[in-house]
Amino acid sequence: MSRKQKVLICGASIAGPCLAYWLTRYGFDVTVIERAPSLRMGGQNIDIKGVGRKIIRMMGVEDQIEKANTTEQGLQYVDERNIVIAEFPKGSTTSFTSEIEILRGDLSNIFYTLTKTEAKYRFGTYVTKLAQTDKEVIVTFNGDGQEQFDLVIAADGIGSCTRTIIFGNEPRLKYLGYYTSYLTIPRVMTDTQWARWYTAPSARVVILRPDNKGSTRASVTFSAPNHGVQPTSETEKRQVLKNVLKGGGWECDRIAAVLDDVDDIYIGPLSQVKASRWASGRCGMVGDAAYCPSPLTGMGTTLAIVGAYVLAGELFRQKEYGAAFRSYETLMRPYVEKVQKLPPGVPRIAYPKTKMGVWVLNNVVKIFASRPVQKLISLLSGQPKLDTDNDDGFVLPEYLRNVD
Ligand SMILES: Cc1cc2nc3c(=O)[nH]c(=O)nc-3n(C[C@H](O)[C@H](O)[C@H](O)COP(=O)(O)OP(=O)(O)OC[C@H]3O[C@@H](n4cnc5c(N)ncnc54)[C@H](O)[C@@H]3O)c2cc1C
Repeated sequence: MSRKQKVLICGASIAGPCLAYWLTRYGFDVTVIERAPSLRMGGQNIDIKGVGRKIIRMMGVEDQIEKANTTEQGLQYVDERNIVIAEFPKGSTTSFTSEIEILRGDLSNIFYTLTKTEAKYRFGTYVTKLAQTDKEVIVTFNGDGQEQFDLVIAADGIGSCTRTIIFGNEPRLKYLGYYTSYLTIPRVMTDTQWARWYTAPSARVVILRPDNKGSTRASVTFSAPNHGVQPTSETEKRQVLKNVLKGGGWECDRIAAVLDDVDDIYIGPLSQVKASRWASGRCGMVGDAAYCPSPLTGMGTTLAIVGAYVLAGELFRQKEYGAAFRSYETLMRPYVEKVQKLPPGVPRIAYPKTKMGVWVLNNVVKIFASRPVQKLISLLSGQPKLDTDNDDGFVLPEYLRNVD
């Protein structure tokens, strides 16, 4: 009897645990390493759309995910006095709030809990060196321990260090000119079950969203030409946000005032990962590490779930890893390229620099949200279109019927 193929997955957020789920179902011996000392629970709501929805159903966690819904009712676009300029209720043609809205940490925890018995998880661990031979990959970890694997998969997000170890600087990060941050703040009386979107001059956008834990999730996006900010320590992250929020109006001072007590600040560039190949020898990539589309598309999590499903399925179906990596890429790349395509003017159009620019944008959004325009869009797009019915033109391969 042949031995189980040993696979090392680097990163335990969304793509990593999803890949672990499918690979263990197909009989692989899976180890997942995560650089952080424990599962990272931070982040705002994320969406699962189209074929991603079908996959979570196959994984048997759709009900659990639905129950963890943040119950957000939709998006209100507000001005600096908190007056609602435009409203996009959940289920409307151009809604920002999708059918499934779950906190990123909750989703990660569901996938981790689902896989932690079948796969081996090691926290506080990352790869420092990889050496490939014809037969194996010799992996050196932080702390200098070594182990042999048949395959190594980078699932360590947009800033993937494992990707750099495998491919050097070959994959290109298309920087979109902005940084975005996510953090959890105490809930106050002005917070409702609606997401509130506020645009401040000097290219700043603040969004406050309800969660299902009694707190509020904030995101602050700001212009940073030439990668102007790369804070590493918690103190630096707080200082960057304090500077950005200064003089912003609306609830910017409220966020700045609690920053010293916030312990889950995530700050990262708005970028897309463009890689000419997703595998080299016995090493490959999945999720944001391979093809981050940026949060502007709302599709990063769906791509990670779909990519993990297809990569595992092809490794199972093809048996030979080279052929599997090739068909994974052939199947996924057209879908990824479609998702990564941003409409003209995005993201610049959403971040005006002047007060006049904010005024113009607010009025455009107001017209866009008006009943006649929404009705027209609805007629043209054949709405209502539930996330479940939309497969984004991607035909999901079937692998499960070949599982013993
Ligand atoms: C803390 C956090 C908060 C986020 N919040 C949001 C949000 O609010 N909205 C949004 O749209 N997107 C958010 N994202 C990004 C979102 O999760 C991804 O775009 C998407 O779900 C694809 O997930 P991924 O698993 O490919 O990558 P990621 O979710 O980025 O996960 C990568 C994982 O790899 C780990 N890691 C990093 N380096 C190494 C290493 N060298 N070795 C091992 N592990 C490593 C990270 O700690 C992380 O757990 C967040 C990501 C993180 C990590």
